[in-house]
Amino acid sequence: MKQKLNVLIIEDEKNICDFISASLTAQGCRAITAQTGASGLSLIASQCPDIILLDLGLPDMDGVEIIKKVRSWSSTPIIVISARTQENDKVTALDLGADDYITKPFGSSELLARIRTAMRHSSRMTASGSSPQIYHCRDLAIDIDRRRVTLKGQDIHLTQIEFKIVVFLAENSGRVVTYDTIMSHVWGPYAGSDNNRILRVNMANIRRKLEANPAEPKYIFTEIGIGYRMAESD
Ligand code: CA
Repeated sequence: MKQKLNVLIIEDEKNICDFISASLTAQGCRAITAQTGASGLSLIASQCPDIILLDLGLPDMDGVEIIKKVRSWSSTPIIVISARTQENDKVTALDLGADDYITKPFGSSELLARIRTAMRHSSRMTASGSSPQIYHCRDLAIDIDRRRVTLKGQDIHLTQIEFKIVVFLAENSGRVVTYDTIMSHVWGPYAGSDNNRILRVNMANIRRKLEANPAEPKYIFTEIGIGYRMAESD
């Protein structure tokens, strides 16, 4: 028998909490709810949820503190539920190890898509210990082992840095990756302040090579002020 997905919702706004809980229950999930950070933390320990939906603005603590605590001992996927005014908090949350975020107000299909992506990513990580070696979406294919990128079957030449960025985004496809996370992955601890600019230059070059219309990308999307999200591998 298939196990029900166990979802913990930590959110103090009752109407949002009820909406999420009802949408998830209708999809066959088991939803547990907490209105405070303290009760959320104790439910994480006692109920071992498969995934956590976390509001950042809680009455007793900052949701970011919960991410820090959870990430010190667990890799359970965390999706941050945030208000549109919390751009900086989103970046902090993602850099501390949140898997994704969703901005209020959102619909249930968007939420379920985010949950599926986060779950797929986490099961892939546990199943193989690494990400898949082939990315494929529409006309774009990336064979990570062979270091080969093709568009409509035609080889695309990427520089070392461009390739590293594209592969990292592909390994995290469907999820947003922050600028800092990309920079420290590509340039390591030596990423300096100028790398931000260099990242943008590289991204412009990547888009010129991969996208038919770089202004309306189909493969790599910009999350303004936060980072990039690559279309999910199919
Ligand atoms: Ca709140």
